[in-house]
Amino acid sequence: MARIIDGKALAAGIREQIKTEAAVLPRQPGLAVILAGEDPASQLYVRNKVKDCEECGFFSRRFDLSADASEEVLLGILNKLNADSRIDGILVQLPIPKQMDEKRIIETISPEKDVDAFHPLNVGRMVRGDSPVWPCTPAGISEMLKAYHIPVDGKICVMVGRSNIVGKPMGLRLLRDHGTVIYCHRHTPDLQAMTRQADILIVAAGCKGLIRGSMVKEGAAVIDVAMNRDPETGKFTGDVVFDEVEPKASFITPVPGGVGPMTRAMLMKNTLTLAKLHMGLLEK
Ligand code: NAD
Repeated sequence: MARIIDGKALAAGIREQIKTEAAVLPRQPGLAVILAGEDPASQLYVRNKVKDCEECGFFSRRFDLSADASEEVLLGILNKLNADSRIDGILVQLPIPKQMDEKRIIETISPEKDVDAFHPLNVGRMVRGDSPVWPCTPAGISEMLKAYHIPVDGKICVMVGRSNIVGKPMGLRLLRDHGTVIYCHRHTPDLQAMTRQADILIVAAGCKGLIRGSMVKEGAAVIDVAMNRDPETGKFTGDVVFDEVEPKASFITPVPGGVGPMTRAMLMKNTLTLAKLHMGLLEK
């Protein structure tokens, strides 16, 4: 039987710690969140981010643009925020409307305020292994592994999914921490042959029921990143068949209540880290 990783409790503890650290800084850490369009899920995420800022004692600014707003308007806001000394972190909620060029928007955010670490300069720093902040989901998973004393060093780590926001940076983080990393994706011919090798199996495919019990090694730590929304019930499930995998795993994350809350907490932690860097309280 696996130990269930309680991401909710862990995240609440991290937020408490962040609040304590933020309270003694010379000024409030500041986060700007920009939402373009009316996607209900994105609206909820942005509301939660602003709420988390309040809870942690941060300064926050929210910008809401209509779905047909021009790219120039968004770029103008980003340039102002880049120059605003109250703002340490800037986040553009993805996905953005199709008339906007995602790459250009990400590259307009100052790399030093790039709280999601999506800017190519920060991607380069991640490849080198020394980025001050990492994308929130990989950063949250890394914190989880640490908190539950799951070692990465010398372990075989299998990453299912290679997106720029989850899979790729997660693999780089595991590599930095001395894991042996195998990336799997849609073109991987025999997924099971890979996943069965994993001491640490991280799954971010967005494919409900993808990982069955037979695909997991006895004693593996299994991290399920996916959030698959059932269109009828509105409930979320992961990619891992929990009832089959849980009896074989040593650790497993639930969905919901696993990776999701940690992702949220890491946005606050990244903002705090950037604020400390801007205040000269951390070495670059
Ligand atoms: P994405 O669609 O950008 O990437 C999915 C990746 O999975 C791709 O690399 C694809 O090749 C791979 N893949 C898909 N089906 C596969 C299959 N059958 N076999 C092997 N590989 C397969 O998705 P993403 O943005 O990385 O998100 C992945 C999932 O994680 C989604 O369900 C998303 O909602 C969830 N997510 C959760 C959090 C969180 O905080 N919990 C954060 C980000 C994303």
